[in-house]
Amino acid sequence: MIDRLFDNAVDIHGSPTRLAVQDGRFVDADPAACATARETVDLGGRLVLPGFIDGHIHLDKSFVGDAWRPHVPADTLRGRLAAEKKLIAQARPMAERADALIAQAAAFGTIAMRCHVDVDATTGLSHLHAVTEARDKWRGLVDIEIVAFPQAGVMSCPGSADLLDAAMQEGAQVVGGIDPTTFDGDADGQLDVVFGIAGKRDAKIDIHLHEPGLQGIEQLLRIAARTRALGMAGRVAVSHAYALGEVPPDVAGRTAAALAEAGVAIMTNAPGDRPFPPVLRLRRAGVRVFAGNDNIRDAWWPYGNGDMLQRANLVGYRSGFYTDDDLLVALDMATEAGAAVLGKRDYGLRAGNEATFLVIDAPNGAAAVAGVPGNRTLVRKGELPRDGAAVPGAGRTA
Ligand SMILES: [Zn+2]
Repeated sequence: MIDRLFDNAVDIHGSPTRLAVQDGRFVDADPAACATARETVDLGGRLVLPGFIDGHIHLDKSFVGDAWRPHVPADTLRGRLAAEKKLIAQARPMAERADALIAQAAAFGTIAMRCHVDVDATTGLSHLHAVTEARDKWRGLVDIEIVAFPQAGVMSCPGSADLLDAAMQEGAQVVGGIDPTTFDGDADGQLDVVFGIAGKRDAKIDIHLHEPGLQGIEQLLRIAARTRALGMAGRVAVSHAYALGEVPPDVAGRTAAALAEAGVAIMTNAPGDRPFPPVLRLRRAGVRVFAGNDNIRDAWWPYGNGDMLQRANLVGYRSGFYTDDDLLVALDMATEAGAAVLGKRDYGLRAGNEATFLVIDAPNGAAAVAGVPGNRTLVRKGELPRDGAAVPGAGRTA
């Protein structure tokens, strides 16, 4: 017997679908089984999607849950870091701000995120401890994977390497890195540390790479070569990789082939003021490309609210996606592709998986990305929200 049947829904292609739930998991919605449902919920023709995955967020930096803090201009990266330290020192406690941002993202339908947390000799493990506190509070509702991120550098910030290793022992699952040449001045040195810790701790890797043009391409090829040599396919990601959007198409194509062969994924937030990776070219080459919000209302920029559907819209908007197929690529980057990078099991609207899904007021996935409707309901393990926020306009029969 089926506990609950969610009937009269549409899938991302706009085709009619129904979701059957038993003991909190999806089961096959065949007609005979559906006839036994104890309860039927009519979704009124609305779209059903798996929950959103934010593949790149900084929970320690955001001022969500705090006062509005006007942006302070800075000419250099080091200047930006100094301004950030000052603003964060004035803000509400980090664990409270992280909690507020997780709550806001969850309200938009995010169920998992990869969070980069500053871990270097200027912060020690203080950010890690604050974010871990917030993460533990949300366990079971929002899965949070933590990246130990050396924001102040590895080679240029003595002591950071040991702290990165300590962070892995304290529960971080991913080793981070940042601009090995332009920021740290020693690409092989930084990559030795990052890949060394990942090997020792059996951890994944996610490196912030803002290096420009051919210099950035050189880092991507270095990272791909190390990933291949160490057999780490599927466990290494590069965030931003702006260089892929700055070089001629043939160079981007050759680099994409190397990334695909090595199994290195690329994360983009489709930033507003600079070139970013050509999403379709990379995906056609076989590279896994996923999306994240990155900075949200922090010392780096004032934008963002934590909504991954809005992020998918921005990826599509900046990429020139107009067709339904292309818009669905942006949606995939905010759902399935991110889930694969995070290694999230039990994900997706398939029999056997946990019956957690979003109901959105849209006729298909492309329309959701293009229009970013706000009217959403997150069903967890087959249960509608208890606060009375049932599916708007939907009929319900016992
Ligand atoms: Zn970032």
